[in-house]
Amino acid sequence: MYDVIIVGGGPAGLVAAAYCLRKRLEVLLIAPELGGKANYRMHLAGLEGFEHITGEEIVRKFRSQLQYLDFARIRDMVVEIEPVEEESGEIFVVMTEKGNSFPTRAVILATGVEPMRLHVPDEELMAGRGLSYSATSHAPLFWEREAAVIGSGDLALRSATELVTIAKRVVLVAPESVPESPLKHKLDSYDNVTLLEKHHVTRLHANGYVHSMTVSDTSGNEQEIPVTGVFVELGLHPYSDLVADLVDLDPERYVIVDDRCHTSRSGIFAAGDVTNTYNEQVLIATGEGAKAALAAYDFLLELDA
Ligand SMILES: Cc1cc2nc3c(=O)[nH]c(=O)nc-3n(C[C@H](O)[C@H](O)[C@H](O)COP(=O)(O)OP(=O)(O)OC[C@H]3O[C@@H](n4cnc5c(N)ncnc54)[C@H](O)[C@@H]3O)c2cc1C
Repeated sequence: MYDVIIVGGGPAGLVAAAYCLRKRLEVLLIAPELGGKANYRMHLAGLEGFEHITGEEIVRKFRSQLQYLDFARIRDMVVEIEPVEEESGEIFVVMTEKGNSFPTRAVILATGVEPMRLHVPDEELMAGRGLSYSATSHAPLFWEREAAVIGSGDLALRSATELVTIAKRVVLVAPESVPESPLKHKLDSYDNVTLLEKHHVTRLHANGYVHSMTVSDTSGNEQEIPVTGVFVELGLHPYSDLVADLVDLDPERYVIVDDRCHTSRSGIFAAGDVTNTYNEQVLIATGEGAKAALAAYDFLLELDA
């Protein structure tokens, strides 16, 4: 029986595991890889080495600690978490894709989010070479460059508003109409923004790095626009299905946690991007991972008292 099983090997899961190990808990981290989205890095022509501290560097030490302690991690995907009532109280059985099942007294969910994709040819090859899914992370790299933001919602408007003060020109390609809002008015006040409502990006063009995009209107009229940065801000999909029947989710399916990473169910904790905690950044996820581990430790102490 484990004390804690951590689902996910990104910044939140890795730091949670390190803190559980410090507390001498019997811990197992289950993930298909270690590092999560902190492994991702943006490369731009003429800008190698610009990011002085990368997310990857921040989580490297936590990752190497766990790589060394191979009894505390397995490479697998969790497919189900089943609560089981025992005489001593509720425990959880964590089942994996490879057919393993592990009983545990507590679970920390740190499965992250999936950014919605553009669905254009060779999208995966261009990710990190001018194509980004996070303006919060990469907008500062696009100083005086031509950039595009794709999306019609609040996320896209925020990204465009952030970029407009950095980039030379910003094209907001909105698949839907963009409703009037204070953010839209603010964006309208800049003269280096072009809004293309009811347009779609059909292709990205690159020669190592993105250099232009083809956009199409609803009648199929196409134009090629030079851009070196494309920010896909169509929304995020939290990987919360595993616990959807066990804990409360918010309307966008983020796991609702309190300020100690407790979910609505005793014994299940959550940390990082998959939760309703404000914003998606490596530093935030690592702090939340530490907090979830300490909260799980307190929970186990009380169980044993
Ligand atoms: C393209 C991109 C670039 C970014 N760049 C930066 C940046 O430069 N700086 C910055 O601070 N932030 C950046 N971010 C945000 C940052 O990467 C995230 O906030 C951070 O990685 C979140 O950590 P996490 O541990 O919550 O989730 P993730 O890093 O997403 O890790 C989730 C983990 O859970 C695993 N997992 C998922 N489902 C299962 C399952 N069923 N079973 C087992 N394991 C599972 C995954 O394999 C992964 O190991 C970027 C995000 C994106 C999408």
